[in-house]
Amino acid sequence: MDSVAEFFGGDQAEDRRRGSDLRYDMQIKLEEAAFGAGKEIEIAKLDTCEKCRGSGAEPGSRTITCSTCGGRGQVISSRGFFHVSQTCPRCRGAGEVIEKPCQKCHGEGRLEKLSRVKLKIPAGIREGSRLRSLGNGEAGTRGGPPGDLYVVIHVREHKIFQREGDDLYCDVPIPFSVAALGGDIDVPTLEGKGHLKVSTGTQSGQMFKLRGKGITNVNGRGRGDLFARLIVEVPSRLNAQQRRKLEEFAALCGDENTPLRKSFFERAKEFFT
Ligand SMILES: [Zn+2]
Ligand SMILES: [Zn+2]
Repeated sequence: MDSVAEFFGGDQAEDRRRGSDLRYDMQIKLEEAAFGAGKEIEIAKLDTCEKCRGSGAEPGSRTITCSTCGGRGQVISSRGFFHVSQTCPRCRGAGEVIEKPCQKCHGEGRLEKLSRVKLKIPAGIREGSRLRSLGNGEAGTRGGPPGDLYVVIHVREHKIFQREGDDLYCDVPIPFSVAALGGDIDVPTLEGKGHLKVSTGTQSGQMFKLRGKGITNVNGRGRGDLFARLIVEVPSRLNAQQRRKLEEFAALCGDENTPLRKSFFERAKEFFT
């Protein structure tokens, strides 16, 4: 026994392994990302066998000392001049074996099951964020510790709002008469109807900021804004009376009604000669 080589040292706990980490991709609505949400997901994963409570032993059966290695976890074999110490193939180094393996999980201590996992989505979470759910990965073998579950967040596209960081953007069409005359308009916000006062002569593309109507910062740094871009809509169809009135209006218009156009033609004069 003077030349024992430790070929397989250090894997005493091979039989009792930590479960794997799992990844789950989850789609959420923009509103859920903005305000946070409680979610429950169902995943198929290796979970603790409830019959043997993860031990892998048939209930009532004992763990007995491994007879192959006499409880040492190692066996010695001779190879020429050497005595080689190897991990015991029967108990895989544990030194003890289950007298009778659990019939339900065949001694693994875990089974493929559908499990429900509760998750708390924090307000302000961003696309691609990863949430770690401690201990909700695969169960370990024979009572080994469980892995973790990583949930990757995907925020669905919204039909009205586009998100940039913690700010929101949306296009709001307004009638050209309101743009010309000024007035109150309704603007959608994540919390319902908002209002904007537009002044006389508002132009298409003009951006209005609704302060604090964006998304709560996930790290607690305040709240973003909502930017409403006004799109002035020209009537696509006119009835006879509307046409007559608009023609009367056009006849009354001079350069002072269209200052942008006036300055444009001054700058572009040389291109028209
Ligand atoms: Zn079992
Ligand atoms: Zn053994």
